[in-house]
Amino acid sequence: MNILVLNSGSSSIKYQLLDMEQEVLLAKGLAEKIGFDESIVSFVNGEGKKTKITKSIPNHLEGIKVMIDALLDAECGVIKTVTEIDAVGHRIAQGGSYFKSSSLVNDDVKTKIKDCFQLASLHNPPQFKGILAIEEVVPGVPNIACFDTVFHQTLPDHAYMYALPYDWYQEDGVRKYGFHGLSHEFVSKRAGQILNRKWDDLKIISCHLGNGASVAAVNKGESIDTSMGFTPLQGLVMGTRCGDIDPAIIPYIMGKRNYSTEDVDNALNKESGVKGISGVSSDFRDLENAAFNEGNKRAALALQMFDYRVKFYISAYFGILNGADVILFTGGLGENSPEMREAVCKNLSALGIEIDLEKNKVRGKETIISTPESKVAVIVIPTDEELVIAREAKDIISR
Ligand code: ADP
Repeated sequence: MNILVLNSGSSSIKYQLLDMEQEVLLAKGLAEKIGFDESIVSFVNGEGKKTKITKSIPNHLEGIKVMIDALLDAECGVIKTVTEIDAVGHRIAQGGSYFKSSSLVNDDVKTKIKDCFQLASLHNPPQFKGILAIEEVVPGVPNIACFDTVFHQTLPDHAYMYALPYDWYQEDGVRKYGFHGLSHEFVSKRAGQILNRKWDDLKIISCHLGNGASVAAVNKGESIDTSMGFTPLQGLVMGTRCGDIDPAIIPYIMGKRNYSTEDVDNALNKESGVKGISGVSSDFRDLENAAFNEGNKRAALALQMFDYRVKFYISAYFGILNGADVILFTGGLGENSPEMREAVCKNLSALGIEIDLEKNKVRGKETIISTPESKVAVIVIPTDEELVIAREAKDIISR
């Protein structure tokens, strides 16, 4: 059974084709700069053969056509006809309060995804375009919508409500939704397998740390709190996003600098985080280089602020969960930065957290990095959101 997984952004489409009998990758690729004159489509088949096409791709429909053509290509392709695609799984950022599970796309599901546009104006519309494009290019294939918010639908009301006028929640849907749910669920389940324990017996603090970053408190298989909120802007310091701030800063700075809502939205989402503090980059590799090798003080400060906020959430969720069995690190940074993991776990011995600095040197590989004496298992687990989506799609079409 072959499942195509799509992750559509405003100007890009990431895709993977997986054979789900063996869970092997048949091909993957990326269409970038959609809507620009020179769009780039890159494609790698399962044997590692790479192809790169540069041409004008005006919209998502054309992007999907080029992608399907690459999959069918006589030389580098991996399938002979589109009937070899059994289902398409789509990553959808925001499912609002509608979706408690991944769903087979029908008219009702489409209406609800569109209803959520106002809650995720950057993410849901291009992802929805991905569904429409597949309906046109591969008619009849089942489309499955997999939401980043679903895993956090178990949050209790006292955790997801904001202390704002109640009708903002009732009439306008203002509440915490949380994101990265596909990843938090995947790595939490995997931790149970690694430790040979049932994941729904464990108390887990899951740290997904990449350009976007969030922490989740997972109690016996259910998310009970998470650091991202109404949008993916809340919580940790991120690559370019500010995370938690005093909301009074917003009207203050709008008045002071004569900013529009768009200006301020742009500053909080794109010019803040470690990029805003350091003035160097949003990429942690550049920051670590600037801080550790070039003595750049602002880069060092940005890293310290990032680490401090992760430590802050781990400590808070330790209390919320009344102890933890496992702390997980995943995401590009969580998987690859020993320096960050060491800084975050340092001085947490009061919580029974102790890591082995030798084992912590690992990058991108599943490894238990805590000492045998540590009361809490600390584990690095590479995430695989595409595989989660493919499994969900397989599960739904097999019912
Ligand atoms: P997202 O999916 O949110 O765009 P990723 O999970 O791919 O982000 O993480 C990307 C980030 O991971 C990059 O900004 C980079 O800073 C960090 N990263 C990747 N590899 C390394 C590394 N070897 N050392 C430090 N940071 C790394």
